[in-house]
Amino acid sequence: MGMSINNIASNYQQLLASIREQELLNQRDPGSVTLLAVSKTHDAAKLREAWAAGARDFGENYVQEALGKIAVLSAAQTTTPDMTWHFIGPIQSNKTRDIAAHFHWVHSVDRHKIIQRLQEQRPAGLPLLNVCVQINLSNEDTKSGVDLQQARELCAAVVQMDKLCLRGLMAIPAPCADHQQQRAAFRPLAELFRELQALYPQMDTLSMGMSDDYAAAIAEGSTMIRIGTGIFGKRETSGEHL
Ligand SMILES: *Cc1c(COP(=O)(O)O)cnc(C)c1O
Repeated sequence: MGMSINNIASNYQQLLASIREQELLNQRDPGSVTLLAVSKTHDAAKLREAWAAGARDFGENYVQEALGKIAVLSAAQTTTPDMTWHFIGPIQSNKTRDIAAHFHWVHSVDRHKIIQRLQEQRPAGLPLLNVCVQINLSNEDTKSGVDLQQARELCAAVVQMDKLCLRGLMAIPAPCADHQQQRAAFRPLAELFRELQALYPQMDTLSMGMSDDYAAAIAEGSTMIRIGTGIFGKRETSGEHL
């Protein structure tokens, strides 16, 4: 899709149309796939553009960078009162307090210690923090994520926590250009998701699919795709120093 710097609104609309098309093609209910705008490295003005185009869910990878944007955009209460913030990056334990205080969702939970800290640090008075457990399916670049058995154990731990709500599973398979191979990489995650849903009916979120593999993810049952490049264009910086 042709993208340029000022095309955020049209990229967003085209993606929504493409998601609806993939839902139809795969006999999925219309609206069953949520589009999460991955806004890491992009400034608050760009997020506001995406918001104006209809985006409400935003994904961030770096705590410090995100806190700056959350502060700016929450101060503008009249124009952006309803953004939902998802933390999707690797979690350092010294960042859990900020994550627990400022985010609505965390997709990248991958150890007991983090579950414990998020539970202890979620401020009283806020709604439950929505949690997805991150799975590392296969030869992924990232060290984040757990295997299927560890994921079962972590989900069992999350449901013990009264400040956390277990919502689902997340994964970032290794990049791969072939649609069938992409589908094969997502399948074990979808199978585990269905198995765990039978135990924990509150699980409704399968967070998988990015700019280059979201069609395959939707075909395998994704309920939330996380798109950065496809909305905001190419990232120019790593973001960590923003
Ligand atoms: C950056 C990122 C994305 C978005 O990737 P794109 O290829 O730009 O769509 C999705 N999920 C996670 C966890 C990311 O870090």
